[in-house]
Amino acid sequence: MADSLRTPVVPLEAGAGPDNPPCPACGEPLFGWLSTRPGLAGPVSRCESCGLGVVGVPGSPEEALRELGTLGDGSGPRIANRDSYACALGSAGWSGLVPGARYLFTVEAARRLVARRDQVVRRSRWVPGLSLAATWQTLLNSVTFGHNVAIGAVGRGRATPAKKRWQRRIDYLVTVVVAIPALLVALPVEVAGGIFHRGAVVQMRFDVL
Ligand SMILES: [Zn+2]
Repeated sequence: MADSLRTPVVPLEAGAGPDNPPCPACGEPLFGWLSTRPGLAGPVSRCESCGLGVVGVPGSPEEALRELGTLGDGSGPRIANRDSYACALGSAGWSGLVPGARYLFTVEAARRLVARRDQVVRRSRWVPGLSLAATWQTLLNSVTFGHNVAIGAVGRGRATPAKKRWQRRIDYLVTVVVAIPALLVALPVEVAGGIFHRGAVVQMRFDVL
C-alpha cells in the first residue's frame, strides 16, 4: 500500500531530446519558458536544475562563461538573478530580460560554470539599491507597453520602447502615476529577496581552487 502511494520520481535526464538541449552550465535538459519577445533574439528556455536561462539556441559552456565575464566590474560579475523573487513575480516582465541578453544567470549556474575553470564562488552578495530598482522596474513592466522604460529613460539600463508613439506616451504617463505604489510593493519583495537569497541583483566574487 505504501509503495502505491509513493510519488513517482522522473529524472530530469528523461526530458533530454532535440527540443530540450543540454544546459551549458550543468548539462541537464533545458525546457521552454518564454516565447520570443521584442528585443530578444529568440524564445527563452530555462534549466530546472541550476536555473540558467538561455535566449535562443544554447551555446557552449565557454560562451556562457565569456558572457558571465562581461557582467559587472573587474572584481566579479554582477548578475540579474534569474532565481530572484523579481523574476518569479515578473516572468516575461522581469527587468533582467534586456535587449541582446543571451544567458540569464543564477548563483548556482555561475557556480557550475566557473567550476569548469577550477574556480569557486567565494562570495555572492545582494546589492540592495540595484535590486530594488530592478524589482520596481519589473512591476512597472506589467503595466507598460514597452519594457524597462523607466530605467532606460534615466540611462540605468537597456530598454525596449513601445513601437507606437502613443504607446510610448502612455508608458511615460503610467510610469509616473504608478511609480510610488510600485515602489511600496517592490520594497518588501526585495527585502525578502535579500533575506532569503532571492535578491534581484547579486554581486559575485570567485576564487581559484
Ligand atoms: Zn543548468
